[in-house]
Amino acid sequence: MKKIAIIGAGFAGLLTGYYLQKKGYQVTVYEKNIRIGGKCFSLVKSGDILELGCVVGASKKLLQLMDELDIKSGNRYHYRSFATTQGKRVPQIASNTIEKFKSQYHRLPHILKKYEKVLREPGLRNIPADLCVSFEKFCFSNQLEDLLPLFSPPFTAFGYGHLDRIPAIYVLKHLDMQTIKCFIENRRLISFPKGASELTNKIADKLQDIRFNVEVKKITGGKVVNIETSVESEAFDAVVLTSTIGEDKLINTKLSQHMLSYRHMYYNVLIYEATEELKTVMYFREHFKQNEGEILLAFNMNPVGEKKYIAGYSYGKLHISKLKEIMDRDMKRAGLKTEFLVAHKQWKNFPHVLSKVLSEKFYDKIHKEQGINGVYFAGGLTCFSSLDKLTEYSKYFVQKFF
Ligand SMILES: Cc1cc2nc3c(=O)[nH]c(=O)nc-3n(C[C@H](O)[C@H](O)[C@H](O)COP(=O)(O)OP(=O)(O)OC[C@H]3O[C@@H](n4cnc5c(N)ncnc54)[C@H](O)[C@@H]3O)c2cc1C
Repeated sequence: MKKIAIIGAGFAGLLTGYYLQKKGYQVTVYEKNIRIGGKCFSLVKSGDILELGCVVGASKKLLQLMDELDIKSGNRYHYRSFATTQGKRVPQIASNTIEKFKSQYHRLPHILKKYEKVLREPGLRNIPADLCVSFEKFCFSNQLEDLLPLFSPPFTAFGYGHLDRIPAIYVLKHLDMQTIKCFIENRRLISFPKGASELTNKIADKLQDIRFNVEVKKITGGKVVNIETSVESEAFDAVVLTSTIGEDKLINTKLSQHMLSYRHMYYNVLIYEATEELKTVMYFREHFKQNEGEILLAFNMNPVGEKKYIAGYSYGKLHISKLKEIMDRDMKRAGLKTEFLVAHKQWKNFPHVLSKVLSEKFYDKIHKEQGINGVYFAGGLTCFSSLDKLTEYSKYFVQKFF
């Protein structure tokens, strides 16, 4: 039986490991933390679930996986509101652009038709030049600029970056027509009543060999792949990386040259206990720029429980004391009644590359080099980093390469 090592026990690593194990491989998952789940991270406080990471999903494939794992999806509507920094409600689409918005929204599926194959295929390959430019540029060159306020809330406020910088392919992969409709029509999104960690815990239950608190320090590719960790060394037939590691830690594999190209977004979540319930998901579009620490989105973390919690999300690699200072100010200014900070987490979110690297066929090169000397990239290194896309890609990856 072939031995495969997986680096990272986040959603992608666990799911890839699960599919490999189902196919008969002997899988070992290495996790540098003392817990599994990565960005699926639900804190439980007196029975209330506080999500420090992932909150919702949208795809049928994710629902199918949840069925397979016997996980029930919640029936939660996510009513949205848009507010100024002073908390004054504003429409998502300005009334003087609504007619243009409607006609552009109507045209969108026709424009996307020519990219149907690349948008439908799992992962990120064969990306045409017009989807390598920023999403904003793509919109302007297709006279779709009035759709930007539709895409920015579930993209920028969800930690995936700014639409004038992030290539169009990522936005269109994440927010396909079905998902964007969920956001327009306030349709039900998939939520996790027992926490997103239930997903990763249940996948982990199916895996035989997970090693905790073990940081992979060096991977040497070859006929036999040698993995050196903070604890020991072991030989495998292949290794699958689902997270970036320093390029100097990847020896004797062509894939190492790509490590340095990945960019991330620093994305922060601060969860407060509150005295008043927040009834909607509240977006602050004035902050969808580059300003570090400013609140992008406020979210009711505990809609069914007695205690009230509000989470605020922001960008920036600031110290928590500074982040809290700005978040306190913004919550107060918006009239949100928070009491004290309960939990917080700064994430390095969304591995991606920028337009120039993307247009040099970044993901196609990786695809070609997969498996050379036993080393593979998967998860967010080769597909869009959301539960929906990781679910789809992990299955495809195992079918394609193993
Ligand atoms: C605040 C927040 C909210 C989000 N909300 C949503 C949402 O609502 N819906 C959605 O679909 N997505 C959401 N996302 C994104 C989603 O959570 C991620 O795309 C997904 O969880 C990533 O899973 P992953 O396994 O690829 O990576 P990760 O979860 O980052 O897992 C990688 C794992 O690898 C481990 N690791 C790294 N280096 C090493 C090493 N050298 N040795 C051993 N282990 C290592 C890490 O410790 C980690 O456990 C959100 C993200 C954040 C930060």
